[in-house]
Amino acid sequence: MNCNITVIPGDGIGPEIVREACGVLDKVGAVYGHTFNYTKILMGGCSIDEYGVPLTDEALETAKKSDSVLLGAVGGNVGNSRWYDVAPNLRPEAGLLAIRKGLGLFANIRPAYLYKELADACPLKKEIIGDGFDMVIMRELTGGLYFGDRYTKEIDGVTTAVDTLTYNENEIRRIAIKAFDIAMKRRKSVISVDKANVLDSSRLWRKVVEEVAKDYPEVTLTHMLVDNCAMQLVMNPGQFDVILTENMFGDILSDEASMITGSIGMLSSASLNEGKFGLYEPSHGSAPDIAGKDIANPIATILSAAMMLRYSFDLDKEAKAIEDAVQQVLTEGYRTVDIMADGCKQVGTTEMGKLICERIK
Ligand code: NAD
Repeated sequence: MNCNITVIPGDGIGPEIVREACGVLDKVGAVYGHTFNYTKILMGGCSIDEYGVPLTDEALETAKKSDSVLLGAVGGNVGNSRWYDVAPNLRPEAGLLAIRKGLGLFANIRPAYLYKELADACPLKKEIIGDGFDMVIMRELTGGLYFGDRYTKEIDGVTTAVDTLTYNENEIRRIAIKAFDIAMKRRKSVISVDKANVLDSSRLWRKVVEEVAKDYPEVTLTHMLVDNCAMQLVMNPGQFDVILTENMFGDILSDEASMITGSIGMLSSASLNEGKFGLYEPSHGSAPDIAGKDIANPIATILSAAMMLRYSFDLDKEAKAIEDAVQQVLTEGYRTVDIMADGCKQVGTTEMGKLICERIK
């Protein structure tokens, strides 16, 4: 297979972790007979330095023409950087919004997986963790409260702020289909999260999700109210396989789920469009505090590359080879400093990438 990938190293630790992820992809290519072609573009602070804007139209066009995008992270030290002394639409993170919008990425997937080797970093009690957990949160990314009309005005002499939460059936259907498709590749369970006891948009959500479920008889569908879901995530995380939810609920729940894994340097993510195109990136930011020191954990980005193989290129075996290599490295006791524990061997960014490459079979 021949895959054209737009690579966005970005700022901070971005270039270091993306370099390792590309190294792992190249090793997969060599072992399984695929070619990964990379085209680099600038986004974030580095693009501001070069072009005065966080994402140029040309860079976006390059991304559109490729098969998928691999992103490190963008942004600098928010309290102390020249990139933040400007209007919000010119800051590094505006590049992220622009590329997500420009590429039509409406489906955000964030896995939350607990490696048993890292269970001590999980803030939950051992009896709650049980055999661990392995879930993905499928969050609608371009609708709902964050994209509705908003304004603040005086009503009867009182300052009043209004945000509008809107979903139409097509927006719900397309994200539900993505969630069920992914459930088919996993343990075939979808828990759809809403607030149908209060919100009209949630009642429509539930109705459309039930319609979509009819096309997936092998997948079990359960509905859960969002407040209950927030509770269940810390009471019994093992029950979740695929969580399907709208934009704001997904924003909050995916952060909660990532925190119970205890290790931000391990968490991958993907944002997909209607078809197979996706943008793959770690869940963490650009970590300017550790940039250039060869100590960043590259695993979240490497696992994001594995997601790319699975969701954009249907290369399930190859994705699994990366995930198995990561698992093996952890089992052998190698750790970057953020996940270091007693009795383990500490390695840097480059060494971690190399160890994972060597274990791709
Ligand atoms: P952050 O995720 O960059 O860092 C939080 C903490 O986690 C830091 O102590 C950092 O050193 C550590 N950390 C993060 N990733 C790590 C890794 N791979 N290995 C080891 N340690 C790691 O969050 P922040 O400090 O709030 O944000 C820093 C910058 O990143 C800001 O400019 C922010 O806007 C930006 N940001 C970008 C994205 C993105 O590009 N998608 C996402 C979140 C934040």
